Amino acid sequence: AWQAALGQLQMEMPKASFDTWVRNAELIRVENNKARIGVQNAYARDWLESRLAGTFARLLTGYLDSPVEVEFVVWHRDAEHESAAPSEIVSHSNGNGNGNGNRCLIDRYRFDNFVVGASNRMAHAACVAVAEKPAHAYNPLFLYGGVGLGKTHLLHAIGNAATEKGLQVLYVSSEDFTNELINAIRTQNTLAFRERYRSMDVLLIDDIQFIAGKESTQEEFFHTFNTLHNQEKQIVLSSDRPPKAMVTLEERLRSRFEWGLTVDIQPPDLETRIAILRSKAMRAGREVPMDILTLIARQIQSNIRELEGALTRILAYSDLSNQPITAKLVEIALADLLPQQSTVEPGAIITAVGRVFGVSREKLVGRDRSREVALPRQVAMYLMREIGGLSLPQIGEALGGRDHTTVLYACEKIADQIERDDRLRRQVLNVREQVLGR
Ligand code: ADP
Ligand code: MG
Repeated sequence: AWQAALGQLQMEMPKASFDTWVRNAELIRVENNKARIGVQNAYARDWLESRLAGTFARLLTGYLDSPVEVEFVVWHRDAEHESAAPSEIVSHSNGNGNGNGNRCLIDRYRFDNFVVGASNRMAHAACVAVAEKPAHAYNPLFLYGGVGLGKTHLLHAIGNAATEKGLQVLYVSSEDFTNELINAIRTQNTLAFRERYRSMDVLLIDDIQFIAGKESTQEEFFHTFNTLHNQEKQIVLSSDRPPKAMVTLEERLRSRFEWGLTVDIQPPDLETRIAILRSKAMRAGREVPMDILTLIARQIQSNIRELEGALTRILAYSDLSNQPITAKLVEIALADLLPQQSTVEPGAIITAVGRVFGVSREKLVGRDRSREVALPRQVAMYLMREIGGLSLPQIGEALGGRDHTTVLYACEKIADQIERDDRLRRQVLNVREQVLGR
């Protein structure tokens, strides 16, 4: 039925679309009138879901002679399991009471495909050291940084390396930990729960910030931590913020988190973003000109997940339209990734800049040219253009009647400076997040 359905689709669809989206899809199984179709990546999944779910359902229903619904999942044929979607990973870590956690590791997160740059050099080195000598380098290792900067990747890389040494490794998010604990309490299985966690050589807990404020989870984790640490077992934690910024974390846990080494990951600079794009394009077997990589890297600044998404999208557009990857194509492919114009008010940008830089609105729109005011004012101009989509004269207007050449100068200066000045880049990202709410 599957082959027949594919054959039918091949006749109905343009060849390029079929080759890109459908050819490599596979029927994983049909169960309870649900057909699970595996595809290579999340982008293909979304594309198929929005355009072809109905068609697949219709065709399969016809060939199977019974009504089916279809569901697309990201799936790698060579891996044992369907991976990568967080909800599916949870199901692997739950309920296998044999004490073996290794199956929750994502195979493709490895050191050798992690691009090292100034922003993550320390974190990478610390993780490599821990993977080489678990419990004898830094214990615990506490990794923190914003979303999409590679924390989960590094945790799995440690896990994969340690597994290859024959060690027992368990990777969980702190939410899994909490849920499993709650389950264990409910089913009176806390002994098995403890046994499972405390028998690991390497325990990797992702996004530990979520245990803050949860008393019983903190209590249990405290004991797990102590047991493992006393037995010289490695603990690695990741978080979106440093221990001292986890406000509702118990003091005794905070101090333990700081026993070993705490390292941060910063947003990548331009050079690293280009290197990451180049490495991803190469792995996808694609030749992308340097100026195009630079163009993408300049537009996507905040995190690496978005960078990857942008590249995947551009490659897909190029395949689908059968066109080479040009600046024009990049612009079209990324158009809907970039923020909507009308939703950002210049006033909101001024307020957020004022808050982040500690300068009043009056000063920002006023005449003061001292650096403490001029720099934030230039940042406001830059962001009004970048995320507000305002024209140069509109920006000049919003900031107390400034000339458009002044605005243009400011925009270019800030664009250039955030590539070199980490602190400024963080401040600008901070304003962006406040304005866009993400
Ligand atoms: P976090 O856990 O910090 O939110 P992730 O580890 O999930 O971030 O990273 C997001 C995506 O970016 C992943 O697909 C990861 O493989 C990729 N990534 C992050 N940092 C790097 C890097 N330095 N080199 C290559 N890929 C990276
Ligand atoms: Mg993560």
